[in-house]
Amino acid sequence: FGPHSHKVRSGCNSDDELVADNHYRSLGVLGGGQLGRMLIEAANRLNIQVNVLDAAASPAKQISAHDDHIEGSFKDAAAVKKLAQSCDVVTVEIEHVDTHMLEEVASSVNVEPSWRTLRTIKDKFAQKEYLKEHEVAVAESVDLGGKGVEGLKEVGSKFGYPYMLKSKTEAYDGRGNFVVKDEEDVEAAFEALGKRPLYAEKWEDFSLELAVMVVKTKDGVLTFPTVETVHEDSICKLTYAPPRNVSKAIAAAAQELAKKAIGAFEGKGVFGVEMFLRKDDTLVVNEIAPRPHNSGHYTIEACPLSQYDAHLRAILDLPIPEKALRLKEPAIMLNILGGQKPDSHVQVAKEALKSPNASIHLYGKGEARPGRKMGHITVTAPTLAEAEAEIQPLVDFVDNMKG
Ligand code: ATP
Ligand code: MG
Ligand code: MG
Repeated sequence: FGPHSHKVRSGCNSDDELVADNHYRSLGVLGGGQLGRMLIEAANRLNIQVNVLDAAASPAKQISAHDDHIEGSFKDAAAVKKLAQSCDVVTVEIEHVDTHMLEEVASSVNVEPSWRTLRTIKDKFAQKEYLKEHEVAVAESVDLGGKGVEGLKEVGSKFGYPYMLKSKTEAYDGRGNFVVKDEEDVEAAFEALGKRPLYAEKWEDFSLELAVMVVKTKDGVLTFPTVETVHEDSICKLTYAPPRNVSKAIAAAAQELAKKAIGAFEGKGVFGVEMFLRKDDTLVVNEIAPRPHNSGHYTIEACPLSQYDAHLRAILDLPIPEKALRLKEPAIMLNILGGQKPDSHVQVAKEALKSPNASIHLYGKGEARPGRKMGHITVTAPTLAEAEAEIQPLVDFVDNMKG
């Protein structure tokens, strides 16, 4: 495998290319949402061209002016092939992609992480089974494979109520999850998710949720610090770095578990590992993401390298000094979600303009739906208490708008 083309591309002089030494010239990414957009922010600073496969004017394309983007869907085989032909390394900002075409193109371009990894992870049940096989602790789960309402009742007798019904595929931001509270709830749960491939998970009465961004390089597995995530209605709301009231030993154990989980997969890049901290202080993996992740946004301001910088360097075999993944300063990230009014998210961003240590990120998504991720805010400060004090009015503002 070698460089695809040596054509001088729009906007980039080949003499400026950091990646040329590695025989890589350009990068293709499946998906042009906010994660792709922040990846391009990092790539732009290094003169790395990123060809995006997604709809025209998607958030990532808005900040990347060249003619090599591909218009289409990352689920469409022909479009994935076209993207692969435009670059030397293909990566993803979303796992719900056509992995069969990625398997096919993997003989001519580098696909990072591996299509095998993406195929396993995109099915949350297959992902759990795989983690179990590799002796990584996960919540107890059971396949519902087409069993219908009776199957859901059986799970209730086995696991007790509440339990979590989950779609195996196409799940994100809680769309795909249903808390089955009691036997009467089974019909509603089936109504909501019954058309999708399902599995169920035993309810985890956790004390809190932790997450670790893991970086897999050609040489090994590195981690960013452990953070605490707070979810509301199954959607990530806040991230605390470092976690509140979590011992150094537990934070270190979370990094070890995350490392073990990701060590079991093939390929390079960053991975997000979501975990539950149980009340007996043991940890289990909730799920993993084979890409940059919401719980890693804080790294943009709080660490020497962001998760996006780290992803680029990992897949392009550029150096990543381990110390560059440290926390420089405590940070809290607040997601800006679509609200009741079309401009609710803009109001939140306006409020954040008044906050001296708040970095505001709006994603350029256009139309807001309630619960849609429209942007985020990160506050950094010398202590977590100071960051909490500064972000609290913004959290109150968001809560008041929800009514
Ligand atoms: P993401 O946007 O992170 O991909 P998702 O839609 O894949 O989310 P999950 O991560 O499976 O959903 O679940 C979302 C949230 O729901 C979790 O962070 C946690 O707060 C809660 N949750 C999930 N599974 C369980 C469980 N078994 N017991 C209790 N709570 C759970
Ligand atoms: Mg998920
Ligand atoms: Mg999740």
